[in-house]
Amino acid sequence: MTQAGLRREPRVPLLTCLIFCVLSLATSGIQSLTVCARSAPQNASLNSLPLANGVAQFDDPYSDFRNARYSNAGLLNERDETKLGLQLHREVTKKFSLTDAGLDRTERIGQRCAKASLRPSLLYKFHVIQSREINGFSLPGGHVYVTTALLRLANENELASVLAHEVGHIVARHSLKSLKQSQEYDEIAKQLGELTGVAGDVARDLGVALGQIVGAGFLTVHSRDEEREADFLGVRTMPRAGFDPQGMVTMFQKLQRIEEQDSSLLGTLFSDHPDAQERIDNTRYEIARMRRR
Ligand SMILES: [Zn+2]
Repeated sequence: MTQAGLRREPRVPLLTCLIFCVLSLATSGIQSLTVCARSAPQNASLNSLPLANGVAQFDDPYSDFRNARYSNAGLLNERDETKLGLQLHREVTKKFSLTDAGLDRTERIGQRCAKASLRPSLLYKFHVIQSREINGFSLPGGHVYVTTALLRLANENELASVLAHEVGHIVARHSLKSLKQSQEYDEIAKQLGELTGVAGDVARDLGVALGQIVGAGFLTVHSRDEEREADFLGVRTMPRAGFDPQGMVTMFQKLQRIEEQDSSLLGTLFSDHPDAQERIDNTRYEIARMRRR
C-alpha cells in the first residue's frame, strides 16, 4: 500500500464501497459520484466444500473482523474527528446539491442503524444529494450521504443496508486511517487542534486542504478489505436496528440488474468490478450464521 499524498491513485484493489461509496468527488458535479460496487471477499464461493449432506460449507469470509475492537487510538481523537467532519461537510455542500427530499426517511432509518452500531454515541448526520446516480458515502465525524436516485431505488430494508454499511465505515474509522497515511496528516491534525470555530486564517487554510481532499475522493475510496468490513458491520447491525438483513441481499441484486441495464447509473467502477455476486454470497453466509445463534 503506497504511502500517499492527496493525489495518489485509489488503492490497488481499487475498490470502493459496497454498493456505494464515492469514488471520486473530484470532478465537478455529481458525475463524479460513482458507485463502488466492489467486491466482498473473493474466495467464498471458490472455497465452498460440499458436505456429505449436500449442503455447502463456506469458509468464513469475515473471520478477520469478528474480534475487532474499534477506537480512535492512534488516530485523530473524536473531538477533532468531529471538527474534521464538519469542515469536510462544508466542502461537500460546495460540490453537491443537497436536498430535503427524502431526508426525513433517511434520517429516521439512518439513526436507527447508528444507534444499533458499535459506535452509538457519535452524533450522526444524514444527508441527501440530488443526483441521478445511485450512490452513497460517508465521512469522518458521522456524516453519511445518499443520492435521491438511491432513495428511489431502495425499500426500507435496502436503504437500511446502505446506511448501515456507511455507518460501518465510520465505526471502523476507515477514512481516518486513510487520512493518517496522507502526507498532509500532521498539518491537518495541527490545524484541527487549533481550530476554535472562529473564522480565520487557520480555518481558511484548513478549508483549502480539505477541499483538495474531498476533491480527490481520498477519504471515500476504500480498499477491498475495508468494504468487506463495512459489509460485515452493516449486515450485523441491521437486525439489531429492527431491519431485515435480507435487504442487503436484495439491494445487491437490484444493483446487479441495473448494472446489466444501464451501468452509467452506477458509475464506471461498478461495471469494471462486477463482484456483487460474491457480496451476495457473503451476506447470505452471515445471515445464516446470525440465525443459528
Ligand atoms: Zn463502502
